[in-house]
Amino acid sequence: MNILLLGSGGREHALAWKLNQSVWANPLFIAPGNAGTAQCGINVEIDITDFAAIEKLCEEKKIEMVVVGPEEPLVNGLYDYFKSKEALEKIYFIGPSKNGAQLEGSKSFAKEFMQRHNIPTAKYRQFDSSNYEEGIDYLKNHDLPIVLKADGLAGGKGVMICQNYIEAIAEYELMLQQNKFGEAGKKIVVEEFLTGIELSVFVLTDGKNYLLLPEAKDYKRIGEGDKGLNTGGMGAVSPVPFATASFMDKVEKNIIKPTIDGLHEEDIDYKGFIFFGLINVNGDPYVIEYNCRLGDPETEVVIPRLENDLVGLFIAACNQELDQAKISVDSRTAATIMAVSRGYPVTYEKGYEIYGLKKDYGKESLIFQAGTKINDEKRIVTDGGRVLCVTSYGKNIEEAASRSCEILKEEIDFDGIYFRTDIGFEFL
Ligand code: AMP
Repeated sequence: MNILLLGSGGREHALAWKLNQSVWANPLFIAPGNAGTAQCGINVEIDITDFAAIEKLCEEKKIEMVVVGPEEPLVNGLYDYFKSKEALEKIYFIGPSKNGAQLEGSKSFAKEFMQRHNIPTAKYRQFDSSNYEEGIDYLKNHDLPIVLKADGLAGGKGVMICQNYIEAIAEYELMLQQNKFGEAGKKIVVEEFLTGIELSVFVLTDGKNYLLLPEAKDYKRIGEGDKGLNTGGMGAVSPVPFATASFMDKVEKNIIKPTIDGLHEEDIDYKGFIFFGLINVNGDPYVIEYNCRLGDPETEVVIPRLENDLVGLFIAACNQELDQAKISVDSRTAATIMAVSRGYPVTYEKGYEIYGLKKDYGKESLIFQAGTKINDEKRIVTDGGRVLCVTSYGKNIEEAASRSCEILKEEIDFDGIYFRTDIGFEFL
């Protein structure tokens, strides 16, 4: 089956690595991909926000399945574009419709959806220019801290946690009056701050049935001990010790099932992944956010633990037959550590040669590349803030994380390499 995977990060390298092992995947195209995905299939240089270019590629390469890694093409309606074209509509498509992708593309849509289906989440109100003054009064009477969220996609930067009223009102003004996040911030959600430990849960759904994938916990802050600026993610572990059977029962009963039933009841086409960003508040799960795709770097620990043939699961999802599939999970722990460029997440340089990629790290460790490319001299060089991650298996978090850490310390190198050495620290 000719498969096209869209995206270019560590998530896509992990997906390409897994798809390439499938009995069905031949050939696998990745657009635009990175230097790592080039080892799993054929990279094709296109802009994945250009639907006509994707259409042309599908026709040229006789693509039979499209798998979408990042959210943007989904929120912009790539699924609907495929379903509207005779030549494309029969292609298996992994990713939700534009409507389904609003779970991530609009915080207010997600909040209203959760309210309609009684899914536990933080209390909230939404504001825009039409009820601006009312919002100021609401903020002044809100408990601290106050969480402000831009409604639309803001590249992971649209959430502000404000510790005092001056900061909250200033952020509110910046978003609604000064267009801090452009269109994405024209409407904002103000919500209560929830205290607890976070957990990422993933399902693959066919819009009616779902399969629960291994859960994960990611580490967003740049510094050791979860200090410093927020990043796209510095590491992740799976499984997560506090995700006990009884907690996961609550997650399925109170959150996952009502979400899938809600999509089905509302006739929202959804064949793809849902990421549930959850928080454990005194033993009860609440939804912090939905994503309409897999997380990064969580994918780099979730996918290596999945034993099923991924293309087989995708075909079952597209045929709405996931009730007949069963997930098989590697019982080992996986931990991934992200190596980033000096200066990330603020400013950083690119183009430095990466050493240590050719070595065989055995069956216990995998390297997934993110911001990398092959330069004109055919060398693999840095091409982003998050450069690559090392995922290792182990009997527990300590063993898995220390294996990855050793490889990053001893074997992998590029100018300005930085990584956290404490991934999974709270569970050790
Ligand atoms: P989001 O983009 O909605 O995932 O938010 C980014 C991060 O902000 C989350 O991963 C949480 O750490 C934090 N966050 C968002 N909403 C809340 C909330 N209501 N209470 C506490 N922390 C939150």
